[in-house]
Amino acid sequence: MSTVRAFLSLGSNLGDRQHYLREAISQLSHDVTVLGISRLYETAPVGGVVQDDFLNVVIEIDTELSPLALLDRCQKAEVDANRVRLVRFGPRTLDVDILLYGDSAIDEERLTVPHPRMFERKFVLAPLADLAPELVPEELLLAAEGDVVAIGML
Ligand code: ATP
Ligand code: MG
Ligand code: MG
Repeated sequence: MSTVRAFLSLGSNLGDRQHYLREAISQLSHDVTVLGISRLYETAPVGGVVQDDFLNVVIEIDTELSPLALLDRCQKAEVDANRVRLVRFGPRTLDVDILLYGDSAIDEERLTVPHPRMFERKFVLAPLADLAPELVPEELLLAAEGDVVAIGML
């Protein structure tokens, strides 16, 4: 069975943020091989909604799952974290997004990959650069939006 290298972005800004991130990675590791976890970042919210700071990480995985099956797993982790969708870009216990899935470009109703907003977000690019600096051009990292601080490992 062939596997695909993929990168996921995980974020939380409600409740025990580290717990939600750890639980999600632990749950995902039943279905995918987790190859690496970036440093942990505390990040100011972007998108205009006033809310608490986020904790963000990016993980690198190997997976046999199709893109949509992987999205289902990510969304199941969100549901299990009791995520409630109130405001778009608003506070959440857990957000799990697919950043990259091999070299694939996907444009389906439920899934766009590469993630369409990843290259403007420092909370994505900084942790991604920990794992795969070759994927993150320095100029984009510098130009990306938001304040991020590495605070250690998850
Ligand atoms: P953003 O996508 O700007 O980070 P968000 O993560 O808060 O915003 P969600 O409410 O988590 O948005 O997801 C909305 C929808 O986005 C999901 O139902 C999913 O079908 C779709 N989606 C499209 N592309 C992706 C992707 N690459 N990763 C995760 N979800 C995606
Ligand atoms: Mg998101
Ligand atoms: Mg999302």
